[in-house]
Amino acid sequence: MGEKFLIINAGSSSLKFSLYDMPETKEIVNGYIEKIGNDDSFYTLKYDGKKLEKKRIIMTHTDAVQIMLMELLKNNFINDITDIKGIGHRVLHGGEFYSESVLIDKDVLDNIKALIKLGPLHHPGEIAGIESMQNVMPNVPQVAVFDTAFHQTMPKESYMYAVPYEWYTENGVRKYGFHGTSHKYITETMKKQLGKENVNLIICHIGSGASMCCVKNGKCYNTTMGLTPLDGLVMGTRCGTIDSSIIEYICKERNLSIEEVNTILNKKSGLLGIAGKNDFRDLEQLANSGDERAKLAIKMLQNSITKFIAQYYVELEGNVDAIVFTAGIGENSISLRANIVNAISNALDIKLNKEANSNIARFKENQNGLISTNDSKIKVFVVPTNEEYMILKDTYEISQKIKNNEFVKTLKKGN
Ligand code: AMP
Repeated sequence: MGEKFLIINAGSSSLKFSLYDMPETKEIVNGYIEKIGNDDSFYTLKYDGKKLEKKRIIMTHTDAVQIMLMELLKNNFINDITDIKGIGHRVLHGGEFYSESVLIDKDVLDNIKALIKLGPLHHPGEIAGIESMQNVMPNVPQVAVFDTAFHQTMPKESYMYAVPYEWYTENGVRKYGFHGTSHKYITETMKKQLGKENVNLIICHIGSGASMCCVKNGKCYNTTMGLTPLDGLVMGTRCGTIDSSIIEYICKERNLSIEEVNTILNKKSGLLGIAGKNDFRDLEQLANSGDERAKLAIKMLQNSITKFIAQYYVELEGNVDAIVFTAGIGENSISLRANIVNAISNALDIKLNKEANSNIARFKENQNGLISTNDSKIKVFVVPTNEEYMILKDTYEISQKIKNNEFVKTLKKGN
């Protein structure tokens, strides 16, 4: 009989979970517990094509874990909690400690706690999720999968900021990059698809959060997000790269605190700040009806993407195996992909296969995702990302190693 594995994605006031049968990689149920700590908290369960929503006051992550286990038992998704053989946790920040997923022990948990200052919005909830699971299931392997890990191969000239060097050595100021689990998934998929290990890729993960990754010889060489996910591309509600002097200037001009400005740059900027909408479908509709701000916001997002494609093309010395679009907007917006490929077409000798680009979303599973023509100098693909699969895969592999006594603890210390 297969073994059950649980994937947990804990936010500051939420807990998402999915239960899988392994090695079949079959999802049995997933759930989303929301508004933890509020008196209007509730949760949804999805299984067998059904969706159930239940209201329940859930004050802490420990309560949320209890509810999750109660539902798994009550609905016979598990017979006993000992059926669960491994738990994978999504963790935002691995700092310079981790370049791959790790088994969580006391040292690992201490390091994740030490990184709260770099992930203040995410880490407290993630730590609560890990500790709650450890309390209930102390003997089950729990694995941390870091969003920064894939980017740890960047060379120093990619990840350093030109600020006093002590800011790096004493305060950890450097580019870490995020969405690493997605960029890794796409890299692994493209290695298989292109039949080679040393792939050179430009990956565009364009969702409500958006980042790009320059993959050289199969490894991350550069990425657009920085110390935090605020940097790089124009995003749904984040500003992306801006002149940092804006912060002091606008604090004085509008009598705002640094914290208030930081919140605005994260939550009220980007597409939302320019056009009043951050859902790309709404924006496309507005732009089609002639709304100038919506058109401007879309153009700014597109330009931020083409700017980094140009940079990464040069960093790869023109040896690019593929440009890949993924995530909500990248996988679904026909016009965004067309506009970007057309904008770089002359400079990089890339040609869009219009029909494939228009049809790709409808026939995703039947196609290899290619949307460029056969005579295009660089291939362009659309590949659906699957971060959860990567978390599951790493968790399963580490727990199998423990089971077979092959486990070697890996810990990369920063320099
Ligand atoms: P993600 O963060 O990856 O879930 O992506 C969310 C973004 O994808 C939102 O801005 C959505 O509006 C956008 N999106 C989802 N479906 C479509 C679609 N069919 N066309 C355009 N954008 C879409």
